[in-house]
Amino acid sequence: MPGELSISAAARAATLDRLERERFDLAVVGGGITGAGVARAATLAGLSVALLEANDFASGTSGRSSKLIHGGLRYLALGDVALVREAALERKQVFRIAPHLAEPRWMVVPARSRMALAKFRIGLSTYEKLGAVEAPDRHQNWSGSELAREEPALNRERFPYACAYREYLTDDARLVLANLRAASGAGAALLNHAPVEAMLLEGGRAVGVEAACRLGGRRVRVRAGVVINAAGPWVEAVQRLEALEAPPMLHLSKGVHITLDAARLPVRNMVVLSAADRRSLFVIRRGDLVYIGTTDTSYARGAERWPTIDREDVDYLLEPLPRHFDLGPVEARHVLGAWAGLRPLIGAAGTEPQELSRRDEVSSGAAGVVTVAGGKLTGYRPMAARVLEAAGRVLGRTPASSEDGPLPGGDFSGDLASLSAGLERETGVDARTAARLVRLYGTEAHAVVTRGPNPVAPGASLLAGEVDWGVMEEGAASVRDLLYRRTRTALYEPGESERVLGAVAARMAELLGWSGERTAQEVSKMRARLAADLDFRDATLPQEELGSG
Ligand code: FAD
Repeated sequence: MPGELSISAAARAATLDRLERERFDLAVVGGGITGAGVARAATLAGLSVALLEANDFASGTSGRSSKLIHGGLRYLALGDVALVREAALERKQVFRIAPHLAEPRWMVVPARSRMALAKFRIGLSTYEKLGAVEAPDRHQNWSGSELAREEPALNRERFPYACAYREYLTDDARLVLANLRAASGAGAALLNHAPVEAMLLEGGRAVGVEAACRLGGRRVRVRAGVVINAAGPWVEAVQRLEALEAPPMLHLSKGVHITLDAARLPVRNMVVLSAADRRSLFVIRRGDLVYIGTTDTSYARGAERWPTIDREDVDYLLEPLPRHFDLGPVEARHVLGAWAGLRPLIGAAGTEPQELSRRDEVSSGAAGVVTVAGGKLTGYRPMAARVLEAAGRVLGRTPASSEDGPLPGGDFSGDLASLSAGLERETGVDARTAARLVRLYGTEAHAVVTRGPNPVAPGASLLAGEVDWGVMEEGAASVRDLLYRRTRTALYEPGESERVLGAVAARMAELLGWSGERTAQEVSKMRARLAADLDFRDATLPQEELGSG
């Protein structure tokens, strides 16, 4: 399986040759979870697939979510029963094929009164029925002493009651990469940093796409039986390549997350907070950090890769903390990192983003391009199945269904603790590193360590092998690709990024043949990006200086 996603110069050139030479069943535009899920499902069904991603895989919404595989309990209140049912059931399926990317965790719901708790539990029981949740995973009422043990920082005078229910914590970008690697292992041709700029039309029908390779400037014409538009917040722009007059369909909504040191906000599980406007926010523990999200505000500026994070977004997320926890002051200056994404919601006139359905919509355009929009990370498999059905109608054949086995790294029972202990024993990495690696790479963590078991820089936790793996097996083509979306250092260990930056750039330069000038540029672009994430604290940096990835 390894090798296909390599972007060493030779492999990238070979992929470009292949894209130009072959005629594919599907040409997928967009390498987020939607495109990746379609590519995997299609290859499993015996179809040949090309996938083109304008920037880096998962650099759009799919790397910037709350990272939950969840049924979206709150959408029950909107009456979206079918959607909630599908997503709630999907939790088990994602756990089955990628247990390292679907870690069961308790979501703690604090309540001020028995009545409030009882009301919440009615909704929860319906949710668990819809998701066919089995007895050991059903919600629990936590007594005062359990709450004190599990979430000691919660203000128990204000919230004397609580219940806890199961949701699954994922890593969104790594879920995308795992699906892409599965597709690539089954023969798909995948290319990042290659925006689709034109539709190939013959007799009014789309017969392929034309893309530009941003790393070398070469243009490729990719011929396919059907084109799939899976461009997330950018689907309307791709629709306009098909027909200039495509009607608007999306309502973009911005969602911001911020990270804090867990020593400042000592949460152990995942906790639901009530924001000033009564929306639910999540506080989620991940290693030594906690992240808080998310906002949900209409975004009128158009699809941007790095939507602005404003001071008011950060203040909105910090506001509930003193109402829920006994803590010292937590202010914007304590925020260590932040990310923002755009939800590509299906619009409905006069409806606020938080009331818009999270359902997906599959449609066929004037030239036969199949567009998929909306949806959730959680429901990517059923969404891919619906896209394949529509693609089958254009191709004039029904794609075969096939065994849906584990994703790369997902071939184990689901016991992460044993996997981590085994990695520690067999490779000699410390317990903390082992625990981090198995969550990112599952059973492939062993192969990652074998590539380079030593820290990439003195005092760093990132291993040299992670850099090599990210470049040679997962298509990282810039330092930002590597630290934001392969190792996730920029999100989960922001302090580490500065420590490893020079060493990562130097190793990538060796692997990819960068000049000294290119290497220096990579370092400064990464620094600028990290600073821009925290722009809300002080100066602003123009977006164009940061590059697109
Ligand atoms: P994207 O991930 O944006 O992918 C589209 C890709 O298309 C991009 O990478 C883009 O570069 C590429 N592209 C665009 N134009 C072109 C072109 N011309 N040529 C080639 N490529 C192109 N869902 C959950 O299930 N759980 C959650 O916890 C959750 N939390 C969320 C929190 C936030 C703040 C947000 C914003 C969303 C959240 N979601 C969650 C929803 C989920 O993240 C999205 O539904 C999902 O990631 C959308 O994936 P996508 O592949 O459709 O879009």
